[in-house]
Amino acid sequence: MSEETVYDELGVPSVVNAAGTKTRIGGSRIRPDAVEAMERAATEFVRLSDLQAKASELIADVTGSQAGYVTCGADAGLLLAAAAALAGDDPGVMDQLPDTDGIPDEIIMPRTHRTGYDHAFRAAGATIVDVGTNDRVLGTGATAVEPWEIDRAISERTAAIGYVQKPYTEPALSTVTEIASEYDVPVIVDAAAELPPTENFSRFIEDGADLVVFSGGKAIRGPQTTGIVAGRRDLVESIALQHLDMHAAGEVWQPPAELVDIDRLDGVPRQGIGRPLKVGKEELVGLLVALESFLEDDHDVARGRWQRDAARIASALESIRGVDPALDGGDDDSVAPQVAVHVDSAASTCSATELVRALRAESPRVFVGADRLDEDVFTINPMCLGASELDHVIDRVRSHLTASQ
Ligand SMILES: *Cc1c(COP(=O)(O)O)cnc(C)c1O
Repeated sequence: MSEETVYDELGVPSVVNAAGTKTRIGGSRIRPDAVEAMERAATEFVRLSDLQAKASELIADVTGSQAGYVTCGADAGLLLAAAAALAGDDPGVMDQLPDTDGIPDEIIMPRTHRTGYDHAFRAAGATIVDVGTNDRVLGTGATAVEPWEIDRAISERTAAIGYVQKPYTEPALSTVTEIASEYDVPVIVDAAAELPPTENFSRFIEDGADLVVFSGGKAIRGPQTTGIVAGRRDLVESIALQHLDMHAAGEVWQPPAELVDIDRLDGVPRQGIGRPLKVGKEELVGLLVALESFLEDDHDVARGRWQRDAARIASALESIRGVDPALDGGDDDSVAPQVAVHVDSAASTCSATELVRALRAESPRVFVGADRLDEDVFTINPMCLGASELDHVIDRVRSHLTASQ
């Protein structure tokens, strides 16, 4: 804890991350072997399309898909997936995007799957068409979306179906892909945070997804600015063509055949809509190395450690007046164990909201989870905490909650 960070050196406050893999505060810690590989990548040259072809092979292997691609984050993957669905192998449409005049541009999404991240679909030029209702929250027993609603929404204007994979999403992905395949409409799945378990790498492809997107900077612990797209070869090819640097002299343009089949194309595309979403060789290499070591990890061991840490945090806080810590997410494989701490502000020194604000204003800043403040609950997630940081968090939280008792 006492060691100076590079952020301290720059005069920028350091953060102790007790909130889990949140992009706002830097995501996760990159694996040491990935950092080392990035350092080596930084000082030598490579053709990026060759590196992407290698990535495609590895991603295909891991996910059981035809091909894969590395993007600068899962959200960039969604934008590129939409661009691929819109343009296919037509260099004219690639050049036209995000203008979608004259082409099918609707992406159908169950209303309850909408998130802030789907702005990426619109950034590619697509228009999102919501289906279903929000009845679920009324407690009537009605579903959020019926399969026929998706079926009826498909028309000649449809470019794709967007699906967000979460434990609570409905209908099942296989139901949606079955409908979509009748109309030859691709299904794009946002599974950014659905790792581990590693079986999820192949699960959505098996369920018929055409493209699946994962974040490289969450549990995989690759660089923050990486994501993975896995899926159909023709769509991945379209992504490559709209993303790779295309300032190419036509006569000598020889992209790797595993990634791009030039015979399918009328000519060399221009710089595409994905060009601003560049992925450097360092990030690409970092992700590939991180992905391989993520696959070798024993996720049960990590989970066991987080569970023990969570139990320790809970027992350190339970005797404080007005404070009720509970273990959360421990038995669901896809949710990291954490502690949900309810604060009764009438009995305590401050409210959960006041505590979160005060912790963030300290030096170093302490970030605890603030997703449930409306229930007077803050959360402590041990995933990104080193041993001395864990003690620091317990210490700081205790100190605020016992201040004037
Ligand atoms: C984290 C997340 C994203 C964005 O991932 P990045 O790699 O940060 O771009 C998109 N969708 C969902 C559901 C997420 O949880």
